[in-house]
Amino acid sequence: MEDSKALTSVFETVIDAIVIIDSKGTMVRVNQAGAKLFGYDQDEMLGRNVSMVMPEPDHSRHDGYLRNYIQTGDAKIIGIGREVTALRKDGTKFPVRLAVSKVYIDNQLYFTGILHDLTKIKEAERKILELNHELEEKVHERTRELSEVVNRLLDTNQKLKYEVEERAKVQSALLHNERELKIALEKEKELNELKTRFVSMASHEFRTPLSTILSSASLINRYTDAEQQERREKHISKIKNSVAHLTNLLNDFLSISKIEEGKLRLHQEPIEINAFCKDIIEEISLNVKDGQHVHCTLLPEPAVLRFDKTMIRTILYNLLSNASKYSAESTVIELKVGVEDEHLELTVLDEGIGIPESEQKHLFDRFFRATNAGSIQGTGLGLHIVKRYVDLIGGNITFTSRQFKGSAFNVKLPLQHGEG
Ligand code: ADP
Repeated sequence: MEDSKALTSVFETVIDAIVIIDSKGTMVRVNQAGAKLFGYDQDEMLGRNVSMVMPEPDHSRHDGYLRNYIQTGDAKIIGIGREVTALRKDGTKFPVRLAVSKVYIDNQLYFTGILHDLTKIKEAERKILELNHELEEKVHERTRELSEVVNRLLDTNQKLKYEVEERAKVQSALLHNERELKIALEKEKELNELKTRFVSMASHEFRTPLSTILSSASLINRYTDAEQQERREKHISKIKNSVAHLTNLLNDFLSISKIEEGKLRLHQEPIEINAFCKDIIEEISLNVKDGQHVHCTLLPEPAVLRFDKTMIRTILYNLLSNASKYSAESTVIELKVGVEDEHLELTVLDEGIGIPESEQKHLFDRFFRATNAGSIQGTGLGLHIVKRYVDLIGGNITFTSRQFKGSAFNVKLPLQHGEG
């Protein structure tokens, strides 16, 4: 194929528009695509200034551009290519990509412009932009909706949190109430139980001395003869003993109720310990069983210490009378008094029946009586009172006991140095 023919046919059939102008801007060649692009016939374009396909301001300035380039060689578009706006015959404008190159043919300067219609691309771009914008709007809208939802959720969360907290408070208050009710109920139960035990114990404990008093009184009534004085005295002494027993019993009840009401206060006063212990032993010795002997080890020297007299008396009296009560006749009861480490120490030992090991843990409970106490009279209150008094004084009580061998009770009371 001949070169120039081939080129011409390529020139005419390429899809992009090709416009060749001379150095003055006159169009010397326009291919079919070029003419079509601008809506002209090729003939209408050839020989005319290329500015005819340019809208303002390029339309008026194009000659100037060419002159400027030819004079300065300063290329704004040549060899570069850019997007420009073109003008159709019908006056409509449209975007094109324009690539310009210069050529010399027979020493004459020409410019070749290859134009590619960008209308569709631009339209697509615009659509993309529009879609983008719509998308952005949607995202924006969704974000706003989401943030509203989140805010509402946060609000609900806050309310829920508050509700949960309130509920927890109510629940804990309810629990607290329940616990208090339970405690109150337990107390009430315990009180009822105590009442029952107390009534059965009291009726039993009162009946024996009261019937002794009654029978002794009616016997005395019968002993009218002068020589029956001895018998009368025996019964008078029985009556006295029973009354004393009843008084003790009542004192115990009184102490217990005072302890329970929390009314007890310590009344400290100076006590000469040796003399005080001797008095109690004398008193106890009047009531011990036949042949029982109370052996006493006192302080090496008389000592005046401050204690609550009634309490310390009750403690000692109870321990010593138990030692006697739960021991056989002709046994030895021992009291040891000592002062050590700022404590007054009282130890009571006996050779009695002892306390069964399995029951020892209940020894200081109210109304507790060991199973081996049998018919020996008692209320089960004495040791409870002793323990409460010792606690009140700030002391300590311990014991060791073996059944059939005997028991040893040890009380340690802190010495008081202050007044009152
Ligand atoms: P009570 O002697 O009036 O029954 P206490 O509280 O003094 O009441 O004693 C409680 C129980 O402890 C007694 O019933 C008895 O079983 C037991 N007990 C106390 N002291 C002794 C002791 N020295 N030897 C044996 N058992 C004792």
